[in-house]
Amino acid sequence: MAGNRTFTMIKPEAVENGASGAILAKMEASGFRIVAMKKTRLSEERAGVFYEVHKERPFYGELVEYMSSGPIIAAILEKDKAVIDFRTLIGSTDPSEAAEGTIRKEFAESKAKNAVHGSDSDENASIEGEFFFASDERF
Ligand code: UDP
Ligand code: MG
Repeated sequence: MAGNRTFTMIKPEAVENGASGAILAKMEASGFRIVAMKKTRLSEERAGVFYEVHKERPFYGELVEYMSSGPIIAAILEKDKAVIDFRTLIGSTDPSEAAEGTIRKEFAESKAKNAVHGSDSDENASIEGEFFFASDERF
């Protein structure tokens, strides 16, 4: 059975550009309820741990550097089939391939600076949510 929670981050360039309100509005308008949310900044070390699954990929170093370059907004979101429906809402990794109406199509700058993160599985949604939020920060 598909789980009902996913994890997202609004990435540094979107926060910097003042797009976080519009992005969050789109998430809520698409039926996602905010369970937990905070503005924070990842150290390089914590960004490295968060993206450890990509350690062997050529873009890992730049990704860690970028994701620690400024504040992000982290959130746990709730909806039926949250992981898959949220991946549909954000669109392809590369905004030039993202469908019309998706968050990345509208807000992403590039394949690297692509506005938002979305978990890729129920298991990772849970791990990523735990990475940022204690149980008394979830509502
Ligand atoms: N990324 C990148 N270059 C690539 C692929 C990915 O810079 O060729 C970055 C991008 O920010 C992406 C993140 O690494 O969001 C994680 O990659 P993944 O393949 O998991 O894409 P996502 O799940 O975010 O769509
Ligand atoms: Mg991914």
